[in-house]
Amino acid sequence: MGSATCRRCQHGGETRKHIFRECPSAKETRESLGVFSPNTEASTDFNEWFKKLFQSYSLAKCRLIACTMWALWTSRNRFIHEGVSTSGSQIADYVKNSLKELDGVKTDLPARPILTDRWVAPTGPRLKINFGATFNKQRNGSCSGMVVRNEKGDVICFKIVFHSSLPSVFTAEALAGFWAIHLGLFLQLREVEIEGDSRSVICKLQEKKDDRLEIVGIIKDSKKLSYGFVFCIFHFTHRESNQVAHFITIEGLKKRENSYLANMVFSGAEDAMLADRRGLECR
Ligand SMILES: [Zn+2]
Repeated sequence: MGSATCRRCQHGGETRKHIFRECPSAKETRESLGVFSPNTEASTDFNEWFKKLFQSYSLAKCRLIACTMWALWTSRNRFIHEGVSTSGSQIADYVKNSLKELDGVKTDLPARPILTDRWVAPTGPRLKINFGATFNKQRNGSCSGMVVRNEKGDVICFKIVFHSSLPSVFTAEALAGFWAIHLGLFLQLREVEIEGDSRSVICKLQEKKDDRLEIVGIIKDSKKLSYGFVFCIFHFTHRESNQVAHFITIEGLKKRENSYLANMVFSGAEDAMLADRRGLECR
């Protein structure tokens, strides 16, 4: 980790020692949770301090400490990348709630492990459309990709739409959602699950209100179009389980043209598609 000045408190280099020990938000978090530093000199090396912390406390407290460290790191990243500022007591609440949630999971574990990094097949008579977008500012192009699959993971078709001159990746992702709905209606599907890994676009499609000016029109049109289905639900998924849609957009961006193919995907997405299908068989 480099030693640029801590952007949250503007004091001291942004070292591990600072982020977890010295930064006021870290101190406030640890104080709220009763996680005090073991009796060490302020100058103690971070690794030594960390070791001593885990040696000094019970297993339950060590669990709390590990969760606190993770929350401090997450809050630091959110501050830097998303501009979201969280106080020490908010981080402490987050830690408490996360542990409570974990305890809930422990007592109520499903028979089957939850695999969030795998593609999940649609249920019942529905088909699933996964969408993704690739944006390349230098090459002045972006690509929306959609793939339609059934409950066995078989590809019904995929479609690529190439765009030039889109202002941002956010617009590219919103347009990919729009094209996914459009494709479902074009295929005269009645019940669909539409899944993408852009959390903001999926949230906007699920929400009643629109607030991002840049994509407000696309979201409005998408919602209107989605009323054409008998049933339509929007899911957020992780990038790891949306690989097929992404690989086809990467290929599409290279080709710089629209494509539509039935019962297959581009060769570059074939491995991901087969992995999804194998994943279904393992369940
Ligand atoms: Zn700081």
